[in-house]
Amino acid sequence: MSAVVQRVLPAIPVTEVPVAGGGFFPVRRVYCVGRNYVDHIREMKEADERDPAVLLSETAGRRGAGRHAVPYPPFTSDFQFEAELVIAIGSGGRDIAVADAPDHVWGYAVGIDLTRRDRQRDARDLRLPWEVGKSFDASAPCGAIASTRDGRHFKGGIITLSANGTERQRGDIGHMIWSVPEVIAQLSKQVTLGAGDLIYTGTPAGVGPVVPGDLIVAHIDGLPPLTITIAPLEA
Ligand code: MN
Repeated sequence: MSAVVQRVLPAIPVTEVPVAGGGFFPVRRVYCVGRNYVDHIREMKEADERDPAVLLSETAGRRGAGRHAVPYPPFTSDFQFEAELVIAIGSGGRDIAVADAPDHVWGYAVGIDLTRRDRQRDARDLRLPWEVGKSFDASAPCGAIASTRDGRHFKGGIITLSANGTERQRGDIGHMIWSVPEVIAQLSKQVTLGAGDLIYTGTPAGVGPVVPGDLIVAHIDGLPPLTITIAPLEA
């Protein structure tokens, strides 16, 4: 009699992000880069502006096409937005050279790196990891991913975020301290990147808090915009 090996729990669903023009991109892991724009480092009164990029992992955001609601999370009273360019990795690897990095990119999207700023500051002051401030349910909403089929890579372009119709963030992708290929090269020295990984590349100045009911729109020239609403904490 042959034993049938069974999964003891139902299969865990994969988070997927819509692709511009149709289809879905399955998400493996989410990483984010801290301190990648000088004006944001200055507003946060952070460390040396030449520090290596801070790289940490996040919980994958929930699947959502177009406008979707993000619940205000527990364990914070200072929940903030950060508009960011997101790199979608199409083929993984380790120790990827800067020159080869563009070949590993499947596409790009607009993302919002939602942050429990109070918990992030606590962790920083205690020299603890930032995960508690960065990684929680639905912490990394992502807009539709545009493929690089047209050969487009982002070396520059305006990035903005508005809250309830008022512009709060405005920067240029070209001002990132660490470029897209450099971020991929650095991260692939620390972890083996895999197809399906998303990398949030840091935010310009102007970050700020949200409350339930807020309407947040992030935009990067040449990419589908990302619109979210902040919903009350789920019971
Ligand atoms: Mn960020």
